[in-house]
Amino acid sequence: MFQQHYPSINHNYQFELNKDFNFSAAHYIPSDDAGKCMRTHGHTYFVNLTIGGDVLDHNGFLVNFSELKKLVHDQFDHHLLNELPQFKDKSPSTEIVAQTIYEMVQTSLNERANQPQCLQVYVRETPTSYVIFRPKELNHE
Ligand SMILES: [Zn+2]
Repeated sequence: MFQQHYPSINHNYQFELNKDFNFSAAHYIPSDDAGKCMRTHGHTYFVNLTIGGDVLDHNGFLVNFSELKKLVHDQFDHHLLNELPQFKDKSPSTEIVAQTIYEMVQTSLNERANQPQCLQVYVRETPTSYVIFRPKELNHE
């Protein structure tokens, strides 16, 4: 288990939940100017999701921690990202991976009655490289 502090976000929600998980996947950047990243290679991606909200469900959850992990991990782990429908016609760069995870998570959160909001997706691709994706406008405030 790893513990790390992530950049904090300004928001007015009463509850903020953070979930760490990782998955292993291969990818390549399908472009001539991507250098060695053009070749298929693998990473262990470390992800941190930040979710905010004011209303809890009947279990006292903003959202179930394990559901959040399952949502992404089960679809990406031990896959070649380029072959997944989420990355059809897209380059699976760290930036796009972070944005795609945001979209998957927020789509799922939108189905919940208590309407939590994904505030930040942090994706570490290598020991020295990470990307943060934040939505420009929050769905619910
Ligand atoms: Zn890579």
